[in-house]
Amino acid sequence: MSRRRISIALQKKIREQARYRCGYCLTSETLIGMKMEFEHLIPLAADGETSEENLWLACRRCNEFKATQTHALDAETDTNVALFNPRTQKWHEHFQWSADGTEILGISPNGRASVIALKLNNEIILVSRRLWVSVGWFPPQD
Ligand SMILES: [Zn+2]
Repeated sequence: MSRRRISIALQKKIREQARYRCGYCLTSETLIGMKMEFEHLIPLAADGETSEENLWLACRRCNEFKATQTHALDAETDTNVALFNPRTQKWHEHFQWSADGTEILGISPNGRASVIALKLNNEIILVSRRLWVSVGWFPPQD
């Protein structure tokens, strides 16, 4: 059996825990009309387990930008820090929305490093967020 296999019951549990949205950029399945991917917090390439503790939801974009990264540079403190962990850390303690609601601002070393490493404000998502904000669908209030 592949070590990547996630039982249907565990998929359901994680999807509920993550509230059907990306743990990094908070984009929801209802906004993009697609299911989120199961993301290994510690990548398989770094011997991360396919277990509840090591899985969360991520959008395809964040998952691909994260790839096998676990740490990244926080330019403000000039230190290599762990990326934000959506299972064990609270989003609002590490990020906040810009005043216009379109950009994710890192407010901790983990948050700042993750904004850069996962390209959380890439040009494509910014266009989408501006549209979502213009009709009142974004940013999420929680
Ligand atoms: Zn995302």
